[in-house]
Amino acid sequence: MIVIKFGGSSLKTVRKIDHCIGIVKAALPRRPVVVVSAHGGTTDRLIQAAKEALAGKVDLDRITEFHLILLDSLRLERSLVKDLLDGLETILRGVSLVRELTPKTMDHVVSFGERISARIMAAALTSRGVPAQPVNAYEIGFVTDSNHGRAAPLPGIEEEIARSLGSLNKVPVVTGFIGRDDLGNITTIGRNGSDYTAAIIGAAVEAEEIQIWTDVDGVMTADPSLGLKVHNLPLLSFGEASELSYYGAEVLHTGTLIPAIRKNIPIRVANTEKPDQPGTRIVTQAAPGDKLAKSIVYKEDVCLINVVSPRLMSASLLLSYALERLTRLGIGVHIAATSVSSVSFVTDGNYPDGLLQKAVEELKELWSVSLERDKAIVCVVGEELRAGAGSLGRIFTVLGEQGVKARLVSQSASELNVAFLVDNSEIKPAVTALHDLLLNDLKQ
Ligand code: ASP
Ligand code: MG
Repeated sequence: MIVIKFGGSSLKTVRKIDHCIGIVKAALPRRPVVVVSAHGGTTDRLIQAAKEALAGKVDLDRITEFHLILLDSLRLERSLVKDLLDGLETILRGVSLVRELTPKTMDHVVSFGERISARIMAAALTSRGVPAQPVNAYEIGFVTDSNHGRAAPLPGIEEEIARSLGSLNKVPVVTGFIGRDDLGNITTIGRNGSDYTAAIIGAAVEAEEIQIWTDVDGVMTADPSLGLKVHNLPLLSFGEASELSYYGAEVLHTGTLIPAIRKNIPIRVANTEKPDQPGTRIVTQAAPGDKLAKSIVYKEDVCLINVVSPRLMSASLLLSYALERLTRLGIGVHIAATSVSSVSFVTDGNYPDGLLQKAVEELKELWSVSLERDKAIVCVVGEELRAGAGSLGRIFTVLGEQGVKARLVSQSASELNVAFLVDNSEIKPAVTALHDLLLNDLKQ
C-alpha cells in the first residue's frame, strides 16, 4: 500500500485536481490510500467566518461559491456537499446567537474544509473511473487528546485505523488534519497537519511509501523566495529532514517524520504538476553528498533573552530555574547557551501580546534580564558536516566576509546541523553567502 497526500494548493483548481487524479490512477497497482487537506484557502476562510459569526455576522457566501464553482467545473452534482454546507451554517448561526467561540467549536467549524474536500475528491475520482469513497478520519479510529487546535493523536490508534481501512474495497479518500477525542468531539491536530495524518495512516497500514504532493519540487537547498538560484534535493536522511522542517523549511510538517521513522517508511515530497519528477525522497540513511552540506534554512522573528546572575549562581541552576519559568508560561526554547553566570535563550518572537514581556518581568525578579527582538536563526543542515573537516571554520569565514555577525552558535552532538543567531536584516546576506559556499565548496 502507499499513502498519497494532496495539500490544499494541489486541490485548488480543476486543472490541479486532474493532476491529482492522474497520480492516483498511476498508483492503483500499489493500493493507494489518499489523504486530503481542505481545498486551498478554505481553512483560512472558515476561521474567518467563525470569527465573523462571533461578532454576529453569518456569511458563508465565499465558501459556498468557491465549492459550487469547483463542483460545476468538475461536472459533479451541487447537492454533493449540501448537507455539509448546511451543517456549517447551523453551527455558525449558533456561534452568532450565543456569541461564544470555544476552541472546540472552532475545530468543528474548520473540520468542514477537509470533510468537503474528501467528499469532492472521492466523487471526482469515481466519476473518472476510479471507484473511491470519502472517509472521515474520526470514523476510522483517528483519536486524539482534547487539546483543541493542537490535539495530539493518541498512541495505539494505528491498529484500529489499519483494520478500518483494510475493510474498504474502494480507494479511501481520508480527511487530513482532523480527528476526534475520547468524548467524540472533533479535534484538529495543528495547522498544516494533514502531512502528519498521512504519516500516521502510513505507519498504520505499514505503507511502502508516504507521498506528500505539493506545489514545490521537493525540499530545496534554500528558500527560493530569497531570490537565490536554488535546486531541489533528491535524497535526504530522516535526521536531515527533521532539522530542516524544525528550522523553517515549510514543505513538511515537523511531526510527519515521527511515524515514518518509527516504521522506517520512506517519504517522498513531489510537485503535483510535475508527477514524473522524483521530487525529494527521505529515507533512513542518505549517503552524504560531496558538498559542504545539503540545505540552509532560517526562522525569522525570533527573540533572544539574556539572563545574568550577578551572584555567580551556577550556570546549571540558573538554566534550570529560568527554563522552568519559560516552560510554565508556555514559551518554547530553540537554542540555549550558558556561560559561568549567564544563560541565553532563543525563543519564537510571535507569542501573544505581552507574553515574552511577562516572562522577562518574572525573570527580572531574580536576575538582570534583557530581551532582543527581530532576530533570526540560520541553520546549515547536512550529514556532510559531520565528516567535512573544517566545515565550521569555512562557514564562519564566509559569514565574516559578508559582515554578518553570527552569535550563539549551536551544534548538536549529532553534528547534522549548525545553527546560529543573526539580525532579521542579515538573513539574506547570510543565506546567500552560505548557499554559494555550499554549492561551490566541495567537502574535504
Ligand atoms: N487545512 C489545514 C490547514 O490549512 C490542514 C492542512 O492543510 O494540512 O492548516
Ligand atoms: Mg501543507
